[in-house]
Amino acid sequence: MRIDTDVLIVGAGPVGLTLAVDLGRRGVDCMLVEKKAAPEFLPKMERCNARTMEIFRRMGVAGEIRAAGLAADVPMDVFIVLAMNEPPLLRLPYPSVAEATAQIAACDDASMPLEPYQLISQYTLEPLLKRAAERLPSVSVRYGYEFVSLRQDEEAVVVTVRGADGATREITARYVAGCDGGSSPVRKQLGIRLRGDADLLRLHQGLYHCPALFDMIPIVNGPGHGRHYHVADGQATFLIMQDSTRHWTLHAVVDRPEDMAAQFERTIGVPVAYEMLYVGEWKQNLLLADRYQRGRVFLAGDAVHLVIPTGGLGMNTGVGDAIDLSWKLHATLRGWGGPELLRSYEIERRQIGDRNVGASRYASAGRRKWRSQYRPDIRDNSPEGQATRDNRPWLPTSSSGRPTR
Ligand SMILES: Cc1cc2nc3c(=O)[nH]c(=O)nc-3n(C[C@H](O)[C@H](O)[C@H](O)COP(=O)(O)OP(=O)(O)OC[C@H]3O[C@@H](n4cnc5c(N)ncnc54)[C@H](O)[C@@H]3O)c2cc1C
Repeated sequence: MRIDTDVLIVGAGPVGLTLAVDLGRRGVDCMLVEKKAAPEFLPKMERCNARTMEIFRRMGVAGEIRAAGLAADVPMDVFIVLAMNEPPLLRLPYPSVAEATAQIAACDDASMPLEPYQLISQYTLEPLLKRAAERLPSVSVRYGYEFVSLRQDEEAVVVTVRGADGATREITARYVAGCDGGSSPVRKQLGIRLRGDADLLRLHQGLYHCPALFDMIPIVNGPGHGRHYHVADGQATFLIMQDSTRHWTLHAVVDRPEDMAAQFERTIGVPVAYEMLYVGEWKQNLLLADRYQRGRVFLAGDAVHLVIPTGGLGMNTGVGDAIDLSWKLHATLRGWGGPELLRSYEIERRQIGDRNVGASRYASAGRRKWRSQYRPDIRDNSPEGQATRDNRPWLPTSSSGRPTR
């Protein structure tokens, strides 16, 4: 049988790209197919956690990621606000990357990770990882190829892909990795189900180019610089700073996409020039796949676990999947991994997926709890309004209600 590649990866999201780079660094022959023509400038994740940055360091891309991501001295605080021009209800302080780096350098009891977290927008990270994959001689990166179907036997997997011209072709691989996201056509082909809670909440997300906002903060009496601003309102609104500090995303429960302009203006509270670049709808899910493997086909990332972004566990869990799968595929292909090694991928990673879906449930329950105590009278100059302000779990961190930083 003619083998075209040892590992065919479907999907060039952060998980498929991480797998391609790690396999390529090990010298494994692999091909990555992605249905999009090129990476897109669409907002999604923005936080690599410490473990992901340790993995990226091992892959030789941590420095590049830090250079492309949020500057090290920008505060990473999280706030609960009524609007950006009013005193914050709560400030949760988090070290900047520079502060965290200094803490790590001063730590000599092995209690801290080697790398701090890094804020980098998914639309910056994906092209960066794509370039890293393309630099590796054993990796072939092919955008504009859509996975259509697969069949497998004891020796190989034959995958049908459709090119941008509509023509289909077959690629034969020893192994396939489905890193094709939440609606994973590979997972569906394998007949593997996701279980859990689907469609818990529908939000709109807007992406705004608003270059003046960062320098305007703190707006008179408003919160300080930070990465997330949760708005205490009845629409689950939150504002997220993206890596350039010139782009922002806003999430909210609104009826129509066009409502996201007024929602942004209401959140900022003062006039500011901006352009709304994109609005889309997304759903909150807490789902885990029954299986991570069938035969010679493996699944990783959102294809097998979907979490609520609170806590930033989605991509980070997927990067862990990719790294676990990578060395096991390498060991098996080189002949030093035992016959059961690849089976351990599902055993090890599915329980972590399960735990992280649970952690995301816990984190989002906390947010739902404080949000449920929002009352529309919160700004009212009345005893009821005062009681609403006094009786909140987000009480200010200092007597003045101003951030303590
Ligand atoms: C608002 C929001 C904020 C988030 N914040 C964070 C965060 O801070 N930290 C974090 O860790 N996670 C976060 N996440 C989650 C994170 O974005 C996802 O977990 C991550 O994108 C999953 O990566 P993936 O590579 O598994 O899948 P995806 O990113 O979905 O990539 C899948 C790829 O497969 C391709 N594909 C699909 N079908 C086919 C096909 N038939 N043929 C070829 N290619 C195909 C798609 O085009 C896509 O490029 C957030 C998510 C949202 C919605």
